[in-house]
Amino acid sequence: MLTKKIFKIDGLQVLAERKRVRSVRLYISQKDLQAHLTIPYYASEKFALDFLNKNIKWLKRTMEKIKTNPPPALRREAEITEKEMEELKKLISNLLPQWEFRLGVKVKNWKLRKMKTQWGNCKMKTGEITFSTGLIKKPLHCIEYVVAHELAHLIEANHSEKFYAVIAKHFPYWKEARTELNG
Ligand SMILES: [Zn+2]
Repeated sequence: MLTKKIFKIDGLQVLAERKRVRSVRLYISQKDLQAHLTIPYYASEKFALDFLNKNIKWLKRTMEKIKTNPPPALRREAEITEKEMEELKKLISNLLPQWEFRLGVKVKNWKLRKMKTQWGNCKMKTGEITFSTGLIKKPLHCIEYVVAHELAHLIEANHSEKFYAVIAKHFPYWKEARTELNG
């Protein structure tokens, strides 16, 4: 076997690579769901294939697990379609007036943006709010929590006790929603 080779086994592609390692290692990259097999230089191609065959069940099971419950990095980078963007725009457009009314605030401007580390952002000075496009992959009550959260920043800039008191008054299950959002 050359330094690198792709094995196709049971409908799965495994990128095999020889490296200066002592023992064989099989893993799935959390970034792109690619299966990798690292084998020592001394091992033969047959050895690599035998190892794969022995572990194919584990590989499939683990792949399924990651697919049904992807790590946050994979989820946030997942493609967002035009249709989903429109859907999210509609959802937020509906939620905003309700929350403006409840909290007695007014949003000047809002937009959607790809954001990696935040679900939303509020500029208190200008009254501008940005929502992460990744929200479309979340349940409605989580989206609503982010809307409530960012609008509450128009009342309280910091995450103070007072800030969360404002949220809790109007959104009693905010903690559950936040946990689900970041889980
Ligand atoms: Zn905040």
